Amino acid sequence: MNINEILTKQYLEKDDIIQLLSTTGEEMQMLFRKAQEVKFSVLDNYIHLRGLIEYSNRCKKSCLYCGVRSNNQNIERYTLSEDEVIECAKLSHKLGYGSVAIQSGERSDKEFIETITRIIKRIKEIDGGSLGITLSLGEQTDEVYRQWFEAGAHRYLLRIESSNEDLYYKIHPHDDRHDFHKRLACIDSLISIGYQTGTGVMVGLPFQTIDILADDLIFFRQKDVAMVGMGPFIPHPDTPLYQYADQIPAAVDRMNLTLKMIATLRLMMPEINMVAATANQTIDPLGREKAIMAGANVIMPNLTPNEYREDYLIYPDKACVSDKPDQCSSCLDLRMKSINHKILYNAWGDSVAFTKKREQ
Ligand code: SAH
Repeated sequence: MNINEILTKQYLEKDDIIQLLSTTGEEMQMLFRKAQEVKFSVLDNYIHLRGLIEYSNRCKKSCLYCGVRSNNQNIERYTLSEDEVIECAKLSHKLGYGSVAIQSGERSDKEFIETITRIIKRIKEIDGGSLGITLSLGEQTDEVYRQWFEAGAHRYLLRIESSNEDLYYKIHPHDDRHDFHKRLACIDSLISIGYQTGTGVMVGLPFQTIDILADDLIFFRQKDVAMVGMGPFIPHPDTPLYQYADQIPAAVDRMNLTLKMIATLRLMMPEINMVAATANQTIDPLGREKAIMAGANVIMPNLTPNEYREDYLIYPDKACVSDKPDQCSSCLDLRMKSINHKILYNAWGDSVAFTKKREQ
């Protein structure tokens, strides 16, 4: 089938998805333009912001790609104080970002759980609960997810990293702490508790194929998630997967593949929120803009106090590590205007897909 025909189909089958992910040159540009058109027709040209707070790089896991894995001795471990998190949240509010996203290495000790609960409640006290709260704090029990939901968090990001079990165990140790089925169960639990749930994968991993990536997109559709985050894999020298750095696609190809994943998913799930991940900008200075032009509609500007950012390097050379928040805010505004998008300030920017489903 030719690309034009696929681009007008109501429902994409796996073969169609594979064909779209394999496009190059002008056909790839056609895919991006179509995704943009679909996005504009359902979500307009609005961009939603979440002020990102990287709460702690202490982590009990050892994911084979991640720079904050517990076995990495080359970083200083930190945890922000409650007050530091609240200051970041207030800054997010002041800058008009409308929401915060709290991300962290994975911990499940009581102190961590209770501190997060208090932080959520304190953020909810800022200006009468005007800030939306997204969490990205890894795998937890149902009870903990419920406790944080009841405290006021309403969105949760938990990337499956790969929906292919074999690949999952090539990029994670195969043990109790890294259990593919447990991660799947966590996603189900988040959805059933009522979170706007986001998942996602890294793109350009060693051993990853187009076939696997097509299945990832089908997985997101099957789970009917509200949000998706996908970014290029960036090999980190202090991690085991770095040994395959010369066997993965070149940066420009990982970037294009990520953009094709975003664009194809926009056609499959027009109303979801999709983030233009910072990892895009790390391998291409215009990466975030390109992700927006391919169908993404959310950006997570970093609000972590600068002195800690160097230690939250999940991948190397992370973009904007030395930017000050207000510089970052005006820079983003200009960057979005330059590509005909408009940041929607002072709004939660919930997933339209989720809101509609709830109203049904
Ligand atoms: N502990 C939390 C947050 C993880 S960090 C959790 O488990 O969900 C957020 C995301 O960064 C991860 O889900 C992963 O997809 C991405 N990431 C980690 N290392 C990366 C790398 N080397 N290159 C690109 N993305 C990476």
